[in-house]
Amino acid sequence: MQDVLKGQIAVVTGASSGIGTGVAKSLAQAGATVVVNYSSSKSQLAAQAVLDEITSAGGSGMIAQCDVSKEAEVEAMFAEVIARYGTVDILVNNAGLQRDAAFHELTLEQWNTVIDVNLTGQFLCARAAIREFLRRGPRPEVSAATGKIICMSSVHELIPWAGHVNYAASKGAIKMLMQSLAQEYGDRQIRVNSICPGAIQTPINRDAWSTPQAYNSLMGLIPYNRIGQPQDIGNLAVFLASDLSDYITGASIFIDGGMTVFESFASGG
Ligand code: NAD
Repeated sequence: MQDVLKGQIAVVTGASSGIGTGVAKSLAQAGATVVVNYSSSKSQLAAQAVLDEITSAGGSGMIAQCDVSKEAEVEAMFAEVIARYGTVDILVNNAGLQRDAAFHELTLEQWNTVIDVNLTGQFLCARAAIREFLRRGPRPEVSAATGKIICMSSVHELIPWAGHVNYAASKGAIKMLMQSLAQEYGDRQIRVNSICPGAIQTPINRDAWSTPQAYNSLMGLIPYNRIGQPQDIGNLAVFLASDLSDYITGASIFIDGGMTVFESFASGG
């Protein structure tokens, strides 16, 4: 899919690690100029390393600090990107985190942290991107769509998750955020879709894959019998950001090695 995103500007939030890094590298490989967002000075070096990898492979982009849950920081990041590149064509709303606890022990702070980043962060970035798409109008020379938004959801927009109620609630809400935006802006040729990963090998879920015992138990949930890689998600992001998917909007695409076919029922149990 070389060059399918040529001439387009993509913002990837939370791109200094995990899935965001995989997506940033894939979009760059497909020809997009990529903004590698990172949340705080702690992840600046990692973000720079991602950008260095992109540029040494012949791609282009910049790093941009912003905590996606802070309105002023989101506005400033988009202003900086638009000042530098003229516009934004693609937003990948990827930044996310977990604060796990049994529900009866879940603090308001844990609840708010997850909702602020996973949901409010996606709202703030999507709003900034859509404002820019509307201001700028179509760019038929680079894409059939006026703008594309990809929301990083999860299999947990569908599968309930005990012990992770705040996270599951945030991802369930992303589904309605994404679909309502697709409905509201479809007539302006803005496409909005979600990627719903299963288990992807990143720092967020290290406990689920870092020992052979944990990995084997995880495989009990995955018919395809391997953990996913950020590159798997990157491939799908390129497709959803490109005109190859021009008739897809309002869709949640599950990419999970079959997790959502519920393997535990394979034996009829
Ligand atoms: P990760 O922890 O490696 O990456 C999350 C990224 O988000 C980090 O770079 C982090 O710095 C960034 N981030 C956190 N808070 C932020 C903030 N306030 N502002 C900006 N950036 C912030 O984990 P990951 O697995 O790569 O997760 C990426 C996305 O994929 C998340 O939305 C997560 O919910 C989703 N997801 C992951 C999996 C999986 O199995 N790894 C499965 C389903 C969904």
